[in-house]
Amino acid sequence: MSYLTEEQLTHFREILERQEAAIRFRVRLTVPDDPDGCDVTEVGDALSRKEFAELADIEAAKLRISQRQYGLCSECGCTIAEARLEAYPTAKRCTHCQRLHEQHSQ
Ligand SMILES: [Zn+2]
Repeated sequence: MSYLTEEQLTHFREILERQEAAIRFRVRLTVPDDPDGCDVTEVGDALSRKEFAELADIEAAKLRISQRQYGLCSECGCTIAEARLEAYPTAKRCTHCQRLHEQHSQ
């Protein structure tokens, strides 16, 4: 499989941006609408750890797109299957390396 085309990179960037917007929207809903006491720190506190990690993954994936590293496995450098990226756009490892990684981190 050859590396992703410009069109595919754009496609995945759009998916990532939609996911990011959805998370930010969800976070805003959980922040109480209090003009007196709502500062940046409170918004930060309202972000759950999971959402924080998701946003960080999305940021990292967008960075990999701009560096033309997106869709390449961070462990072995092979191309990650497009079907895997469609299902899991922030994937940074191929299925093989991800399995090894999960075994090691248990
Ligand atoms: Zn790999």
